[in-house]
Amino acid sequence: MPQIWLIVGASRGIGLEFVSQALTLGHTVIATARGPSPASTLPPPPSQYGNASQLWSLTGTPNGHNLKILECDVSSEASITSFTEQVRKLGRKGGVLEKGVIDVVVLNAGVLVYPNRISEITFQTFAHHLHTNTIGPLLTAQHLLSLSSPPPAVSKTPISPTWGPSTPISIRTLVFISSDSGSTTNFRAFEDGFGAYAASKAALNQGLRHLAAELERKRKNGENGRGEQERTVVLALHPGEVSTDMANVSLDWEVEGIISPQESIGCMLKVIGEKGWGGIDEGGRVSAERKEE
Ligand code: NDP
Repeated sequence: MPQIWLIVGASRGIGLEFVSQALTLGHTVIATARGPSPASTLPPPPSQYGNASQLWSLTGTPNGHNLKILECDVSSEASITSFTEQVRKLGRKGGVLEKGVIDVVVLNAGVLVYPNRISEITFQTFAHHLHTNTIGPLLTAQHLLSLSSPPPAVSKTPISPTWGPSTPISIRTLVFISSDSGSTTNFRAFEDGFGAYAASKAALNQGLRHLAAELERKRKNGENGRGEQERTVVLALHPGEVSTDMANVSLDWEVEGIISPQESIGCMLKVIGEKGWGGIDEGGRVSAERKEE
């Protein structure tokens, strides 16, 4: 059954391939890039949209009409806030989120400035990794999760009769693209040059565990405003060693077992289907049915 996916950080690499495969499965996809937002819904000339040109080119593929592109820089709270408001507007009558559900959110945006050895790193470069890989994804999740509550009344201006209010929007499965570099149980001492990156992913892992526990407590206590059945499943996935700009810049040795984005996303879709909110059907699509618990 077609679903609604939201992919944050989709201009290239793993995020771009997530969008491509989700569209192929027939899903509606909201994808973000840091490039400027379009003034119209027509596919723009690629050069005008800088690093988002590959993402924009997907609007010309067979299911491209199901792709909506928004702007989000996860290292800027102002950008996260503005992006969240754009998502909220999609919950108005006639918008792609009018049913009030995002099936899967993938928080994929990340950076790796190589090398980032702790013995050499500057405050600024360390902070850059933490802003983009740790604080950004967690705060973006926090803002998107807030959409499940009705917006606070900030003005007495009458709501446009053509649009009406946005419906509250729930997230069923929240996926963070983490890394085995951040594993604290399986320390990868051989990864010389990955110190700040690894620390940022370890902090992400711990942060999302807390987020999951907080969401669960609020659900059980009836504090999520959505009822006890409205669970959000939180997942952290390692995509494998994937041939992308990030890996190709940072890995100057022969990596055994490096995989293509196509293979990585194919595997992650299966894991999301098995571990996420829904089950998985024979065609490999994530079904909309809630798994028996
Ligand atoms: P790429 O460098 O190819 O792509 C990174 C993506 O993140 C781009 O779309 C980039 O956008 C976006 N991004 C970077 N900074 C920001 C920001 N501040 N706000 C919004 N978007 C941003 O990397 P990969 O595709 O390889 O990596 C994707 C994720 O997978 C990352 O979280 C990475 O840590 C993780 N990962 C990757 C592995 C690999 O082997 N490739 C292994 C383990 C984990 P823009 O084009 O604007 O820069």
